[in-house]
Amino acid sequence: MTAQFKMIISVELVGVDGVRQRGEIANVKRSVDDARLDDFGLSLEESKEIQLHLQKELTQFQTDQAVQRDRKCSHCDCSRQVHDYRSRAIHSLFGLCRVRVPRWRRCECGSSARLATDCAPTLLNGRATPELERIQAELGSRLSFREAARVLDIFLPTARVHNHRTLRNRLAKVADQIEKWDVASPYRLSRAGKSPVSVVIDGAYIRAVPGYQSRHFEVAMGRVVSQGRAPRQFAGAPHMATGKHDILRAALRAQGWLPGRDVTVFSDGQVGLQNIVLSATHQPVTHILDWFRLSMRLRHIEQAWEGIRHLHDLNVYLRDVAVHVPRLRHLLWSGYVREASEAVTQMLAQLDQHPGLRDATGKLRRLCELINNLGTYLAQNAASIVNYCRRYWSGQPISSSPAESAANSLVNARMNKKRQMRWSPIGTHRVLQVRAAVADGRLKKAKLNLAV
Ligand SMILES: [Zn+2]
Repeated sequence: MTAQFKMIISVELVGVDGVRQRGEIANVKRSVDDARLDDFGLSLEESKEIQLHLQKELTQFQTDQAVQRDRKCSHCDCSRQVHDYRSRAIHSLFGLCRVRVPRWRRCECGSSARLATDCAPTLLNGRATPELERIQAELGSRLSFREAARVLDIFLPTARVHNHRTLRNRLAKVADQIEKWDVASPYRLSRAGKSPVSVVIDGAYIRAVPGYQSRHFEVAMGRVVSQGRAPRQFAGAPHMATGKHDILRAALRAQGWLPGRDVTVFSDGQVGLQNIVLSATHQPVTHILDWFRLSMRLRHIEQAWEGIRHLHDLNVYLRDVAVHVPRLRHLLWSGYVREASEAVTQMLAQLDQHPGLRDATGKLRRLCELINNLGTYLAQNAASIVNYCRRYWSGQPISSSPAESAANSLVNARMNKKRQMRWSPIGTHRVLQVRAAVADGRLKKAKLNLAV
């Protein structure tokens, strides 16, 4: 017989009338003699047990307190008699709570007036607590539904309520509600005055479910940045009742934008994405080609050149290329598009005459391709290339690399190509709504009511 000691956990509940009630929650036993580190402190299972019992005590007590409030007849102030009891089941973060709720008889005074108060119906309005729904939606937007269900099951004292279907349904409800609010939200008066609002927009391709009209569909996402406010994320999938431009318009409104105020758009130059902004604002906007994207293209060229510049006899033929490749970045940084395009043309002409181009030297061919692509890119986006240098030093934004992070945080973690998952536009749309709301901290503040 080993020596054992106990920790008895009990609660004391004090009602509005001052009456106290005690209940035992748990009894944790430990042995002294062959104690090991395994037994040190509470185990996860024990803590789940304790949480579950605490929650049961509290929810039943809360219910009791509420129904007592509702008991008084509003007409004669008498306490009514119990008619019968009903059981209500509500899912909470700490387990399924089954509470006993009495139904009251009609008062002896004969009044059929409704309850003086409606405490219990207000309290028990719904099948799951908003906190549980929010956490299920948040995890479902970060992990696959199955993984999210597993994580919840590891840490929370619940029996089989977190399956992937529940999670998907909860996320869908939360997403639809967030979207409904966003779209219905009014314009907010801005104190930021005339400072322009920036929209950083980006696209991503998602693998579509079998049977969808194409193998991939494009989602748009990004953020709206306004001075003095935290950036607001937005994202939308195609073929939704709420279009991408509706979602963007809601985000603009939330950031204090009003029609007529300047909007600057940072993008990769994709016309489709720019058009979303135009349909959201119904007004001309300023496009700026994202320096980050431009810089990436230059970097690829620089790297390709770095890989072959040391090969002998190249420099003799490619003297112009050697001069222009390092210059390109400086030219474009200061917004000299015409000069940069001329440099591209010269380089292409020289590369074209190079005897090595026809040989199997893949590196040279690759350099040629990259420069050629840059030429096309510059021609297409000449109007949206600005003097980045000046903007940068005057503290104005020049890059949508924040959109890259939006794309990363919104899409890549959950829907990237490595996960062999296929998505429907509606499923994607919902996950994106929740992810964007999580990223902004909007989900935490949301007062969810999914009962209806
Ligand atoms: Zn009465």
